[in-house]
Amino acid sequence: MAYTIDQVKALIAEYPDFPEKGILFRDIFPIFQHPAAVECLVDHFVEQIRSLDKPADVIVGLDARGFLFGPLIAIKLNVPFVPVRKQGKLPGNVVSATYIKEYGPDVFDMQADSIKKGQNVVIVDDLLATGGSCKGAEDLVARLQGNVILNAFVIKLVGLEGDKKLRAPTYALIEC
Ligand code: AMP
Repeated sequence: MAYTIDQVKALIAEYPDFPEKGILFRDIFPIFQHPAAVECLVDHFVEQIRSLDKPADVIVGLDARGFLFGPLIAIKLNVPFVPVRKQGKLPGNVVSATYIKEYGPDVFDMQADSIKKGQNVVIVDDLLATGGSCKGAEDLVARLQGNVILNAFVIKLVGLEGDKKLRAPTYALIEC
């Protein structure tokens, strides 16, 4: 069965009070139960990225759910995929950036040779909340002298105004 993007959106599940009380957790994993839904999601992002005025040279995915579909987008665009990982998980020379999470600071790493000066980068993740983690990723790309041209999410929690922390524009399939 071929999926429409509205059918893909409908697969996202909500779990109240997970991982703790007061958080409504949005779970994108049900999409991955359906290969044709994944394909529809990936094609949707590819279309958004192709419509930018500059071509994307690199897709950067955030640890961990940005790793689910970031590489699939990169394959379709025929560009490299670069992971941003939590500190201490990547070998070799890395650049690091501290970012603010709900309960304090954390550190993201990126391999130092993974982005070349002047490359246009699209950052992808499942969800934009406060924007702290995406800001950390933007900082890493800036350290390597890349240009973030878009931050793309499946879901954006509009009320938290995460995009105000970010330099590049954001796109989200669902704004809520
Ligand atoms: P933030 O740095 O505050 O923008 O948080 C975004 C990161 O936290 C993303 O990598 C999400 O996977 C995760 N996250 C934050 N809030 C939620 C939520 N309500 N449901 C699912 N994931 C979330």
